Parts: sequence; structure tokens; C-alpha cells
Amino acid sequence: MLELNQVTKHYGSRTALDGVTLDIAAGEVIAIIGPSGCGKSTLLKTINGLEPIQGGTITFDGTQIAPGRTDWRSVRQDIGMVFQSYELFPHLNVMQNLLLGPKVVQRADTNSARERASELLARVGLAGREEAMPRELSGGQKQRVAIVRALMMNPKVLLLDEITASLDPEIVREVLDVVADLAKSGITMLLVTHEMPFARAVSDRVVFMDAGRIVETGKPEEFFDNPQTERAQRFLDRFVF
Ligand code: ADP
Repeated sequence: MLELNQVTKHYGSRTALDGVTLDIAAGEVIAIIGPSGCGKSTLLKTINGLEPIQGGTITFDGTQIAPGRTDWRSVRQDIGMVFQSYELFPHLNVMQNLLLGPKVVQRADTNSARERASELLARVGLAGREEAMPRELSGGQKQRVAIVRALMMNPKVLLLDEITASLDPEIVREVLDVVADLAKSGITMLLVTHEMPFARAVSDRVVFMDAGRIVETGKPEEFFDNPQTERAQRFLDRFVF
């Protein structure tokens, strides 16, 4: 589904990704973990063209998307992304926020897009909130709307960048439950998270990064119970399980 081969990314003189190679199969859920600044977020951004790469290649569904003359708008219909901050338009209600993408990008029939929005809202526990304004929603609710917004495009791959990092601890759970439900639905997912028990529970594979490189990958139980590298051991020592 997605193939990164020796991907290198620099910001000026700083190397954010240093030869990252990763193959992701359809339906796989990958948790990307590692210390702050190791390149996790940059990795996701290169996959949907928010950051250009300077070396290596990224192939999606058999087509090389980076580097290349890629129509990123079209790729982003297939590769959705949810960010740490849920950037909903404050002057539009939930439904209007959800219809923006499909209307502009896919020119979807509005009635079927509305139906899909309502179905997805119900799925994330927000049935009947179509008319709510973003300011009337809690952080966790806004983040769930942001997830629905990404799902409106029917993406093949969903990239989640620390989507619970700015939420109060007591509402982290409600968002993680939605992600766990999605993970079971068969969508291919790459998620950057600091929630280690969650990464363990929800992922098929853990990718541990440090200083722009993949240091270790493994099945969650193997990685968390028996990390092979000293760097991963040190990282995991900081967490209480
Ligand atoms: P992580 O998500 O693991 O915390 P990032 O991918 O955000 O790490 O950052 C990787 C490295 O690239 C860090 O050294 C960071 O300071 C740097 N970096 C990230 N974004 C930018 C940017 N827009 N401009 C310059 N440097 C950046």
C-alpha cells in the first residue's frame, strides 16, 4: 500500500529524516513512537506531501508520489491526515465543516455526503450534533469531528499525528476509543502517539524512531516486553506501564 525507501528530509541544515525505509501493507496499523524531535511528525507530512523530501522515494498503491509531479490534492483524498489541533472552521457548524472537503474536492452529491456525515458522527458518539458550532464542543468532541472530516473522503490510509496530545487526560480515552474502533475496521493507519499502552493495544506493528532514523520495529508485545536496542530500552524506561 505504502512504501518508503531511504527517505531523507532536511530542514535547512537539520536532518529530520535520515534514510527511512518502511513498507506498510493494506490494513496495517502502525504506531510510530520515539522521543520528541525524532522525526515522527515529519514522516507523516512527507507521506501526504505537506513536506517535500530530498532523497529516496515514496510509493503509494504502486505509484511513486514523492519525489514527483504529484497532484497532492488527489492523493490527499486517499491519504487523510488528522492533526494535534483540530482545525475546524469556527464560523461553520459541524455539518458545514464536514461537507467542505467532499464538496470542494469530490463534488459529492450533497445528500449522500450529508448522510455519510451523520452516519460517521453517530459512529464516533456524536449523533445529532450536526448543527453544533465548534465553540459548543469539548476538545475531545472537536477532535472526533476532525476524525470524521478525514473519513468523509473515504481514505485508504489515515495518518494521525498525536491527535490526543492537546486534550485533557480525562477525554483522551474517548478519542482513543474511536481510533481503536477504526483500527479494527481495516483502514490502513499510521499513528504517532505518546500513549504507550494505546500503541500497544491498537497497533499491528511498532516503529521506534530516534534522530530521524528507524531504530527498531516489531510486533507490539515483542517491542514493549523485550525491546532489542539499548535506545528503545532507555526510551521505554521512562514510561510506567
Ligand atoms: P517529532 O514529531 O518526532 O517530535 P518532528 O518531525 O516534528 O519530530 O521534527 C523533527 C526535526 O525536524 C526536529 O529537529 C525539528 O526541530 C525539526 N523540524 C520540524 N519541523 C520543522 C520546520 N518546519 N522547520 C525547521 N525544522 C523543523
